[in-house]
Amino acid sequence: MRLPSSYVPWSAALSSELIRFENVSKRFGENTVLDDLCFAVEEGKHVTLIGPSGSGKTTILRMLMTLERPDSGVIQVNGGRLYPADEKQRRELRKKIGMVFQQFNLFPNMSVLRNITEAPVRVLGLDKDEAEQRARELLDLVGLAEKCDARPAQLSGGQQQRVAIARALAMRPRVLLLDEVTSALDPELVAGVLDLLRDIARSTDITMLCVTHEMNFARDISDEVFMFDSGKVIESGTPEKIFSEPEHERTRDFLGAVL
Ligand code: ADP
Repeated sequence: MRLPSSYVPWSAALSSELIRFENVSKRFGENTVLDDLCFAVEEGKHVTLIGPSGSGKTTILRMLMTLERPDSGVIQVNGGRLYPADEKQRRELRKKIGMVFQQFNLFPNMSVLRNITEAPVRVLGLDKDEAEQRARELLDLVGLAEKCDARPAQLSGGQQQRVAIARALAMRPRVLLLDEVTSALDPELVAGVLDLLRDIARSTDITMLCVTHEMNFARDISDEVFMFDSGKVIESGTPEKIFSEPEHERTRDFLGAVL
């Protein structure tokens, strides 16, 4: 499977930082979810966030998607500030980021095709015909070319998640955020969605930030794995290092419980 070359809009030779969190903190009431968090992700890399439930992984993705705000600290995307920043700058940077959610979050009253064309037309100002052509290419890519006119409720969970992946890619994002994208699927549908994401990871240079409990998938696609605990990265490294020779006791405990 190949994405058109226009989905790879920058040179692989240009290795630079695309995402940076600097001393980011976030509380929900008394609950400190992120505590002076610092990390960076290089352009084109696939990074997986692992760690116990409640350690703040989803909150990180939601902040990048501008669905949550940090209480303090700096978040940079592509050299620009996402936080602190004015709304206009935030909206511009936000266009570079696509997200696939655990619960698909498709628009139930729109056709599959319209689900995919809506944001490119409204947010990027794409011509309707061009947006539809892009959507059809992507539906072909995710194996659902014949489902253009279907409503989300007429599709299986796996098919809905494929549409959600196509919808995220239709914005030609620099960063794709994947939040537990197979957790809501029936077990027999998980492998197909993970295979699609493996193909996308292999055939594009899209930077990926992925929260998952699928450790084999994490091992396959990741350049780097970040282990979270209590709102901090306590250990990071290649999947070989994290899965085979974890240094931190909390990482060993966590992997012992999930592997
Ligand atoms: P993870 O993805 O690692 O499981 P989350 O980022 O989803 O962790 O959540 C971290 C903590 O923040 C959890 O204790 C969760 O209950 C809490 N939390 C997340 N979102 C909200 C919210 N909107 N309001 C209150 N608490 C929240």
